Amino acid sequence: MKTAREIIETYDGPKVRIMEVCGTHTHEIFRLGIRKLLPKQVELISGPGCPVCVTPVSFIDEAIYLALEKDVTICTFGDLVRVPGTKMSLAGAREQGAKIHVVYSPADAEKYAKEHSEEQVTFLSVGFETTTPAGCLSVKAAREDHLDNYSILVANKTMPQAYEKLKNSADVFLYPGHVNAITGTRLCEDLTKEGISGVVAGFTAKELLTALAVSLVKFQEGKPFFVNCYPRVVTRDGSKEAQVLVDEMMEACDCEWRGLGIIPKSGMKLRKEWQDFDARIKYQMPKIEGKPNPACRCGDVLQGKCKPSDCKVFGKGCTPQHPVGACMVSGEGACSAYYQYS
Ligand code: SF4
Repeated sequence: MKTAREIIETYDGPKVRIMEVCGTHTHEIFRLGIRKLLPKQVELISGPGCPVCVTPVSFIDEAIYLALEKDVTICTFGDLVRVPGTKMSLAGAREQGAKIHVVYSPADAEKYAKEHSEEQVTFLSVGFETTTPAGCLSVKAAREDHLDNYSILVANKTMPQAYEKLKNSADVFLYPGHVNAITGTRLCEDLTKEGISGVVAGFTAKELLTALAVSLVKFQEGKPFFVNCYPRVVTRDGSKEAQVLVDEMMEACDCEWRGLGIIPKSGMKLRKEWQDFDARIKYQMPKIEGKPNPACRCGDVLQGKCKPSDCKVFGKGCTPQHPVGACMVSGEGACSAYYQYS
């Protein structure tokens, strides 16, 4: 019987495009040298699973508006600080006097608000099903602590709508294991009815090789498939506790993704009962249209339409030290992975 590695190395079936939905998969596949094992007809393409990368320019502009126009202290994950907005990044806003505080979790942001009652504090809530519950918990804690100086600027997204939007971009999706740990696998099973194939993948070398080998074997059978290759963490039902929490506090809304445009019902926003903590409502946010740098092809990279190295400024005008787009900033970004490993 062949090992997963042998199945991959000896694959002689039809050409297949496999999309690494998750940025961590992109980085791990590079880092572990798995790309070097792939025969020519197996193409790996990057997808929209890096939360910082898919957050649109307009969101950065909104955060800068709050910081500079409303004197709000912005609490954020470090990656977002250097993502270019239309005119500047949050780092640039900091140089102009904005208070930008880096945190490791929404709970840290809520704690900061509690300890700094003289400041208005907003947490930049980005990410997918994995991180949304923590944002909700911070809001719950703020209500329990009777804070009136804490809010969140929400750009949380849900993945299934993105798979549908991208269904013609890839033959097989490598589903992100940590998202499926929360959502379960029923949604992925349902996607096979729409002709969308995929496998849930873990993050170790063995798990990634297994997921790729299973993808290649099933792809040759010629019909849509789904396999959970990360059963030690991912179950069919996912985390009911997290699902109930998010459903209690948030509802679906249309949402803009960098490169993919507005995808109906692919975003989350706080329900009416929690709107005191919604920064857009609290500060009566005006409509802000962000404009990405025209040289940047992050939008195409995130849809698997081009490789980072196809971008004219890759490695020249755009490097991790001087990023032009979000995909070079983020530790999970495809451009950053290509720059680091290729
Ligand atoms: Fe954007 Fe830089 Fe990537 Fe080009 S290399 S797509 S400018 S992040």
